[in-house]
Amino acid sequence: MKNITILGATGTIGLNTLDVIQRHADDFRVTALTANTDVERLAELCLQWQPKYAVMADVQAAEKLHDRLKNYPHIQILAGSEGLVHVARLPEVDMVMAAIVGSAGLLPTLAAAQAGKRVLLANKESLVMSGQLFMDAITQNRASLLPIDSEHNAIFQCLPCSYDRSGLLNIGVNHIYLTASGGPFRNREIAELHEVTPDQACAHPKWKMGRKISVDSATMMNKGLEVIEACWLFATTPATIEVVIHPQSIIHSLVEYRDGSVLAQLSNPDMRTPIAHALAFPQRMDAGVKRLNLVEIARLEFETIRFERFPCLRLAYEAMSAGGTTTAILNAANEVAVQAFLDGKIRFTAIPQLIEKTLIQVTGRDATHLEIILEDDRRAREHAMTLVGN
Ligand code: NAD
Ligand code: MG
Repeated sequence: MKNITILGATGTIGLNTLDVIQRHADDFRVTALTANTDVERLAELCLQWQPKYAVMADVQAAEKLHDRLKNYPHIQILAGSEGLVHVARLPEVDMVMAAIVGSAGLLPTLAAAQAGKRVLLANKESLVMSGQLFMDAITQNRASLLPIDSEHNAIFQCLPCSYDRSGLLNIGVNHIYLTASGGPFRNREIAELHEVTPDQACAHPKWKMGRKISVDSATMMNKGLEVIEACWLFATTPATIEVVIHPQSIIHSLVEYRDGSVLAQLSNPDMRTPIAHALAFPQRMDAGVKRLNLVEIARLEFETIRFERFPCLRLAYEAMSAGGTTTAILNAANEVAVQAFLDGKIRFTAIPQLIEKTLIQVTGRDATHLEIILEDDRRAREHAMTLVGN
């Protein structure tokens, strides 16, 4: 029986995790569930799962949850960032699903690494913000790290189990191909992109996801963040990683070896597959997903990706090459820009412009301490917000 904390339990990844766990009730116990403001959803999940702890990041929401669950005194209700960190570190917890969206996920995810947990990492922003510190925390505290992002989970599955992050060249890997569906605007005229709406941007052709990552998929910043994530997870450089458009979203990524072999992981686009892989690793367990029918799929297509159409991807490659806190600045500016777009304050095409302006104005530093990273995150947010206001 493994005890699990689910950070971001009310989101797409959190709910998919609970769906998988429900199929294996004898193997997992849900110790803690967390959410931001969605009291009703978390209350329902608490009634169903009876965790020891429930955390609302929002303090007022925590008070409402307290009222809502007053007849269940065995569920302890905590609030704020401290509450999230507390349940990520609990001694009785074996694994932590890190599925909070955005920079809010950094502190609890890092806490899970520092406490030596098995970290199931969906919150890519943690690695984008603090890659070196985060990977050091994993190694120094003998935590284990399993990627949930479908592309990184695919790469993980295509590498030898013994790979210890000592460098991909040492194990004969030449190249990694990260696949991208191309998002909802793959074939849209570039001239028309300035008029697309938040709902159009969130209508992803293959995946059902939260709104922030859906917009990131439409701008391809999601793939840019994934390039950075892959560099840290697999100890490699952006030059080793190539993004290729694959509209069917069946091949989730590929690894090319020196002898010409290319290994790929295929599955239907359903996040329960990487979630079940990480929960059961190194075993395998049923994920409840539809079997892959190759004859029905019939065609697997690939296209080159163009930076002119997706400037966010170029910005992410450049930020990773610059190193230090530049990727945290990129991430912060992106979060502000995406929120402004979702709120109807800026156009879709202003997202990369706002990020690029922020990257020019707010210069990065060595990311040696968490305080420096958080300060540059704050500086970038402030700058990006003034650009939204103008
Ligand atoms: P979502 O928006 O559906 O859910 C986000 C969760 O985080 C919710 O439970 C919400 O309550 C919580 N949350 C939001 N803001 C918070 C805050 N300030 N403090 C504490 N909790 C907060 O998002 P999602 O699609 O499930 O994505 C979660 C993470 O997984 C993201 O980092 C995303 O990039 C990554 N991811 C998602 C998918 C996918 O298919 N959805 C795939 C790969 C990676
Ligand atoms: Mg992904």
